[in-house]
Amino acid sequence: MSEPQKRWVENSIMRLALFSTELTLGKSGYHAVVHVSGLDRLLDSPPPGNTKLETPGEDFSALLSSVLNMYGEVTTRGIFRRWGATFGEAAVRRRPSALLLKPMLALLPLQRRVRAVLDALVNEADVTRGEMLHTLTDNPDQYLLSFRDCLYCAGMHPAEPICFTVVGTLEAVLKWGTGRDFAVREVRCSARGDGQCVFEIDKQPLHV
Ligand SMILES: [Zn+2]
Repeated sequence: MSEPQKRWVENSIMRLALFSTELTLGKSGYHAVVHVSGLDRLLDSPPPGNTKLETPGEDFSALLSSVLNMYGEVTTRGIFRRWGATFGEAAVRRRPSALLLKPMLALLPLQRRVRAVLDALVNEADVTRGEMLHTLTDNPDQYLLSFRDCLYCAGMHPAEPICFTVVGTLEAVLKWGTGRDFAVREVRCSARGDGQCVFEIDKQPLHV
């Protein structure tokens, strides 16, 4: 029997996940979730904000699974969406690639801006896992973003798609990159037995 392949996440991403959890749940909720996740050691010494792939993927998934276990599925959807917004907004402030991308986006028409943001996001998502796990395709009306081996729902058993963390992140990053709001839906979820998590993004922005 071969061992399952070990999954890794960039340290800075786990650090950002902890920060987003604390900001979303408040200090006491955050401490409870970290404790239930078996990650108490990270309270005193969170991972450094560097790009090394040294954080076990299981730590990242355990953190999010504990939110679902503690708050229940309905409440968790809202928590995850806010978590994703916090995570996305912090990521674009901290990641050097985002700082490089921003001035170039201003030169592009809206549709090319959306595409450039999603291409960059796929690339960053691959970099933070050290593997090519994310793909972007499109049809005339929507972009489709697929996550293989999604750590945002690993180990969860929800009744409905649960990766609102990713939905919230996509909404926040698209808003940052384009100045507009876009409808984002998770249409397939690994935690529901689908082969991968798939997110559908309307090409036309919402009229708000
Ligand atoms: Zn997922």
